[in-house]
Amino acid sequence: MSAPNTQPSAPAPAPDVDVLIVGAGLNGLAMLHEARTHGLRVRIVEAAPEVGGTWYFNRYPGARTDSESWMYSYSFDRDLQQEWDWPERYPAQADMLRYLQHVADRFDMRRDISFNTQVEAAWFDENVHLWFVRTDQGETICCRFLVSAAGQLAKVVEPDFPGLESFRGDIVVTARWPEHDPDMWEKRVAVIGTGATGVQLIPVVAEMASKLTVFQRTANWVLPARNYTVSPAKMRRLKATYDELWRLARSTPSGMGVRRTERRYSDVTPEEAERIFEGAWEQGGLSMQLTTFADLVVDEKANEAVGSFIRRKIRAIVRDPRSAELLCPAPENLYGARRIPLGHHYYETFNRDNVELVDVSDNPITEMTPTGLRLADGSEHEVDVVIFALGFDAYTGAHSAMDIRGTDGQTLAQRWSQGAATFFSMAVDGFPNFFLLGGPHVPLGNALVAVEAGGRWVADLIEHTCRAGMTRVEVTSDAVALHGDRMDRNLQATLLRHGGKLGAWFLGANIPGKPVAPLLNYGGILDFKSGIDTEQEDGYPSFTFGRAASPVDVGA
Ligand code: NAP
Repeated sequence: MSAPNTQPSAPAPAPDVDVLIVGAGLNGLAMLHEARTHGLRVRIVEAAPEVGGTWYFNRYPGARTDSESWMYSYSFDRDLQQEWDWPERYPAQADMLRYLQHVADRFDMRRDISFNTQVEAAWFDENVHLWFVRTDQGETICCRFLVSAAGQLAKVVEPDFPGLESFRGDIVVTARWPEHDPDMWEKRVAVIGTGATGVQLIPVVAEMASKLTVFQRTANWVLPARNYTVSPAKMRRLKATYDELWRLARSTPSGMGVRRTERRYSDVTPEEAERIFEGAWEQGGLSMQLTTFADLVVDEKANEAVGSFIRRKIRAIVRDPRSAELLCPAPENLYGARRIPLGHHYYETFNRDNVELVDVSDNPITEMTPTGLRLADGSEHEVDVVIFALGFDAYTGAHSAMDIRGTDGQTLAQRWSQGAATFFSMAVDGFPNFFLLGGPHVPLGNALVAVEAGGRWVADLIEHTCRAGMTRVEVTSDAVALHGDRMDRNLQATLLRHGGKLGAWFLGANIPGKPVAPLLNYGGILDFKSGIDTEQEDGYPSFTFGRAASPVDVGA
């Protein structure tokens, strides 16, 4: 693709690239591929020394996907799909990283990636319609379009307990796990945080530690993952059906390649419902959400029923009645109102003699001492290693941590000070020629469907802009406001609207001071896809286009 020849009326700086992408994770690599396919000159800057993003940093023991491997991978290249064998239903972090490294090598992506490079600031020059991006390597990169793929769950909630520095043992943060594990063998280990990360970590650490103390503030609904090794025969069958699986993924709300049930809880008797829940529990993974009832997070009765089923399971698995009760989510903690983790023998772990569950809901951790942790009631827990799995400043955190300034010098953080505002997660008014992948309002569902559809959509819009001889594209404030209403409506249509009271990161409620507002599109993949497809088919009515007085030529 090339833009029409232009005769600049005044000299404008020559952009180093057409598209600069921040981040070489799942989103960034997909965007790189799309940009190249669209004939754009592209470069990625990546803070880490390697590709992978979240799959590079989150290397804690037990880290693995919560989506089935064959749907948590790219579909953009048939040969890539056919040549890659997944070892497990839910691949471990090392396998995910190996896959992304393979993608980077196979498509010769590394030549366009600057590793160990962090974006410090970026500003848009209205005169020439160019972005200038300053990195911590002292470079200022000039580009026409800037895409932040800095990470959905990349800005870590840091432990800030008083006395942290005084602790004489090892402190580890799961999202910054060191290359070599801290020594946990026969050590007294504390895990703080029982979200999806803690739930994966706890059973593995329990195998190593002499004593593991789990500090739980809120109990989660943990579904059994039922991971398994993918046999060569299963892999062969999957490869033969990839096209069908992906067609299904793009046409279902979850994007998981599984036909969602239309059955409602009120359609069946309680006995029948029990049988259906039992089947899903045995099947594991996301079967509970996808195959039991369509109204689990919409209808209160259905929600109560699934909650009651899982509580009974917890009580049946966990032998110590006190621990079992602590692990049962409270009645107000509706099923699905916070992200549901998949467990790998999670509840069973609390039957081990070396594992203790400590409730810190009403008795919080107040400080760290040289030898461990102290709670509000004065009790002390002596440990050798403390692992923090405290979560993330999700969706907005990593993007707005960079000093990205749009028109009028406004930063993203300022634009989002009242809550995330986007157009289908990818564009923000006041930020021309700037796009997000993995930004707030990505659809709830299989991330990979959104990653690929989003990357293509952004590249198509850039191409559309250039073909029209334009140098500036910006979403209108009206479109962003309307989209915000849509996000609210989608949230209000589900019981997930109660997540704010429950500290759900889905709504930003886990970060003190962060506006409680939708960070995801609860309409799912279909709502997202239909919205962006319509926008494109209609010729981008939600965007304005402009031409610089001294435009630059662009395009390969
Ligand atoms: P999270 O779900 O936000 O969990 C953070 C945990 O830390 C919560 O249990 C929270 O308690 C606890 N916590 C925070 N501050 C605390 C304090 N001062 N004292 C005691 N406990 C405290 O974070 P996460 O587990 O890292 O998961 C975040 C998201 O990352 C997941 O929901 C998922 O989307 C993604 N993830 C995905 C995978 C996967 O796909 N395999 C794996 C891991 C993570 P409260 O609940 O009371 O706030």
